[in-house]
Amino acid sequence: MENELRFPLNFTQCPTCGSTRRLANEVLEGEKEKGRVGPAANAFLFMHQSAIMDARKTVLSAPVILSFHDACVDCGTVYCIHTEVKVGTPGTQRPGGPGFSTS
Ligand SMILES: [Zn+2]
Repeated sequence: MENELRFPLNFTQCPTCGSTRRLANEVLEGEKEKGRVGPAANAFLFMHQSAIMDARKTVLSAPVILSFHDACVDCGTVYCIHTEVKVGTPGTQRPGGPGFSTS
């Protein structure tokens, strides 16, 4: 398929001002310096998940889009920083994946 999306999608700059400084990430870095959080941890303000399915049908498995959002420290814009798609039972997906651990 032409223009097929390839996941994960990562966005490393604020779409409004171009800054790479993110609120949750900066708080996380402070916690890492204090040793309260492991070095592999990642941070975000909130995560949304959307199951792509026909609501009129009962399905055991469907693509579930996970999108992670954070806020720009310099201008306040809230934007998507990471998106991935997993196939699973709708409503049971948890954050995870390479380089995006919450541990
Ligand atoms: Zn910004």
